[in-house]
Amino acid sequence: MRFSQRVRIFEMRPTARNQPLANDLVRREIFFLNPVPLLTLRTQMALKLFNTLSRSVQEFTPLDPAGKTAGMYCCGPTVYDFAHIGNWRTFVFGDLVRRYLEFKGYAVTHVMNITDIEDKIIKRVRETNTSLKEFTAKYEAEFVADLKTLNCRMPHQTPRATEFMGDIIALIEKLVQRGIAYKAADGSVYFSIDKYRGCGCTYGQLVKLNFDEMRVGERVKSDDYAKESVADFALWKARVPEDGDVFWASPWGEGRPGWHIECSAMSMKLLGPSFDLHLGGEDLVFPHHEDEIAQSEGAGMQAPGQRFVKHWLHGAHLLVEGKKMSKTLGNFFTLRDLMTRGFTGREIRYLLLTAHYRETFNFTLDGLQGARTALARIDECVGKLRTIAAGQPPVEPVPGAPLVQQFTEALDEDLNISGAWGVVFEWVRETNRRIAENSLKPAEAAAALAAFEKIDTVLGIGAKADAEAPSEIVALAEARTTAKKAKDFKRADAIRDELKAKGWAIEDTAKGPKLKKI
Ligand code: AMP
Ligand code: ZN
Repeated sequence: MRFSQRVRIFEMRPTARNQPLANDLVRREIFFLNPVPLLTLRTQMALKLFNTLSRSVQEFTPLDPAGKTAGMYCCGPTVYDFAHIGNWRTFVFGDLVRRYLEFKGYAVTHVMNITDIEDKIIKRVRETNTSLKEFTAKYEAEFVADLKTLNCRMPHQTPRATEFMGDIIALIEKLVQRGIAYKAADGSVYFSIDKYRGCGCTYGQLVKLNFDEMRVGERVKSDDYAKESVADFALWKARVPEDGDVFWASPWGEGRPGWHIECSAMSMKLLGPSFDLHLGGEDLVFPHHEDEIAQSEGAGMQAPGQRFVKHWLHGAHLLVEGKKMSKTLGNFFTLRDLMTRGFTGREIRYLLLTAHYRETFNFTLDGLQGARTALARIDECVGKLRTIAAGQPPVEPVPGAPLVQQFTEALDEDLNISGAWGVVFEWVRETNRRIAENSLKPAEAAAALAAFEKIDTVLGIGAKADAEAPSEIVALAEARTTAKKAKDFKRADAIRDELKAKGWAIEDTAKGPKLKKI
């Protein structure tokens, strides 16, 4: 029996620390079109995420005592080339985290830096004989265009390192004053790991390091180095002839900042000395993020007992056809490369979102074909729902709608995206079954659409609107209907063939003929 039902439930509201305290149980009344098991009615369950800092899955608890806001910093692109599909896996992962926090009701401040000064950029500027600004502006614009193609929400702030030079220098000065950084004979300023450890701080919070093998005072100037060569790293690099015109004045002479200090300075400037989430690909754990912690906590700007970052999240790498991406292997794809092969941003986004963020993901062109098929299944189902719901007033998703509820339960478990897709496709199957048996009423179809749209605020795949047929095709379809009415079936069939040759199929439905792009 189907009836409108009023149910009283107790809902968990997030508290200051998202702890389910008894006095935070609030009573709400909600209405259902269909009876749903009470167990599935709990909303606002806790989100759990794997924190690289604790190496365990932890409940996400924001620093905001009201539990309403979340600050999130994602290491952005180094703008010296087009971002490749591996980079895009990490940025789409960042977009998923942001969208899901917003879905859970947090007001998120999303910051993504643009690394526009770094070793590789300087090398390319020299090779191409352009100015730094001219060179990086091109790749930054392409990056933003790609973000849109993949339907990623634009970060609220995209600070460029070159525009935060005062903050970067001030942070280095603070480290020098505290005796943790020193100027070396070459004019560069280095972070002293020995001094930092001497203050009771831990170097090696995200990775385990073997200090027995470390020679005190040994230095590394390059931004990239392996865990085995841990050494004092450069905060400020003294100007050398190869830098050309790329330099700034500083208390230590002309030079430029190291990559790691850029992120410490910009993140703390925009999100405060302590913030909630810091994201990046797994290759950034060491040295980039380890050095960010050392610089930011070494400057001692955090309130007592607070860390620089509460939750560190890292996405696993992407392989292409089972191998590491490389230009020589010819498996190195940018978004453009894939679009030239006829794939859409939507299909690429879907594929990048199919694997759990902590699992290495094998990207294949066959996988992209599979993405196309999967999206077509969703589109077909949503298209049918739209037809049934046509004319219905817009509705909000029914509270506790199983699709939304189960989707949330999956993503609450460390963003279990495979589980979430499982829920979506089970919903497609069940909805199709109801449509096939003609038991879905227009109001139910409208509610189902509302539930899909709600979860799509996280997935960001949308559903393709029915392809708009050009007027010539519509005219042919109308001519076919006229021929059928006149019982001229030979002509009606000839028109169907003509439509097919032009790439359109025509389906006779209860509501009349429907055109579909083949
Ligand atoms: P970059 O522009 O090199 O600084 O990298 C931008 C982001 O892409 C960083 O978070 C990297 O960790 C990430 N990244 C680089 N290579 C891959 C890959 N193969 N798979 C996934 N993420 C990657
Ligand atoms: Zn960074």
